[in-house]
Amino acid sequence: MSKINNTIDFIRSQFPKQDFIPLHAPVFNGNEKLYVFDTIDSTFVSSVGAYVDKFEILMAELTKTNKAVALVNGTSALHVALRLSGVQNGDEVLTQALTFIATVNAIIYNGASPVFLDVDLDTMGLSPNAVQAFLEEYGELRDGVCFNKRTNKKISACLPMHTFGFPVNLDELITVCNKWNIPLVEDAAESIGSEYKNKPTGGFGKLGVFSFNGNKIVTSGGGGAIVTNDIELGIRAKHLTTTAKVPHAYEYVHDDIGYNYRMPNLNAALACAQLEQLNSFIQNKRDLAQDYQSYFNSIGIKFRTESAYTKANYWLMCVELENKKERDNFLKLTNDNRIMTRPIWQLIFKSTLYSAFQRDEQKNAIFLEERIVNIPSSVRK
Ligand SMILES: *Cc1c(COP(=O)(O)O)cnc(C)c1O
Repeated sequence: MSKINNTIDFIRSQFPKQDFIPLHAPVFNGNEKLYVFDTIDSTFVSSVGAYVDKFEILMAELTKTNKAVALVNGTSALHVALRLSGVQNGDEVLTQALTFIATVNAIIYNGASPVFLDVDLDTMGLSPNAVQAFLEEYGELRDGVCFNKRTNKKISACLPMHTFGFPVNLDELITVCNKWNIPLVEDAAESIGSEYKNKPTGGFGKLGVFSFNGNKIVTSGGGGAIVTNDIELGIRAKHLTTTAKVPHAYEYVHDDIGYNYRMPNLNAALACAQLEQLNSFIQNKRDLAQDYQSYFNSIGIKFRTESAYTKANYWLMCVELENKKERDNFLKLTNDNRIMTRPIWQLIFKSTLYSAFQRDEQKNAIFLEERIVNIPSSVRK
């Protein structure tokens, strides 16, 4: 009990002068107003404009990929990235149950089924060992294409998620996926600026996806992006998400059932100003993480830190409590004291909507679900 009271005081001391302390609030200290007013002055506030182009260039640079496409949100980016990776109606996609619902919804939008596999305890993201164990039991290569022997369905993608900005064990995951010819698509919605072996997340898979929602580390109000090293695929992503219109001076001809998933220029302006500050935001959050770590060490609560070979952006920071009872206690006392804390997501298959899909034992996911709590993680001013 007094541990938690001390924690409340400590968190308040990190975010002084705030009565209610949110989990994550955006910070607008850069060129946000300049760029947004500029789009208004230009009248190009909607689906085309200079900031959309600038944003796409910035994102490709930042993720060290060959092409980036600006989208209306991260969920639509996942939808299209899976489709472009080859996911079709009736297929299966390997993913984690310990994730935000959008990861799984995007699989369903493509008419495919999720297969829920366990996470690693250190990264809280999809476990390469779990993927390997599943494929050894159920996988079968037929003419180089991976099928699930139990369901007879094609396994057409693997979709790991970098939980709270902590990168998954990418080398091992890539090795398993390559062995079974399964394309990797990264849900990097939470991990912009995070690195695995000095390389940014999002650029490891066939395609990677980011979100710029208001609660993320940098925001465009609402927004998303697809990145890829395959330029052809990137061009296709742009085409599909801009109604699949064939370029022409005035005729309306569309060569596919595309989507209107473009990021408006107004939002791209905000995103550009925010991206300019990403490195300083990450440094600021890493400093906060250090302060949290020494504080929580001193009182014997486990603060979660990045694993070997990775650099996390520390989007949402978290502690791991001893058990569910301690977790519930921590949640209640902090929230009662106007400090926002949240449990990690409920495992997706616990919803009746998703309970029928194949899954493994989920030992680590269940362990983490009962213990992990997010704590206030905004950039300190
Ligand atoms: C935020 C988030 C998304 C979706 O992003 P939106 O921009 O809100 O649609 C997808 N996956 C994960 C893991 C997220 O955290």
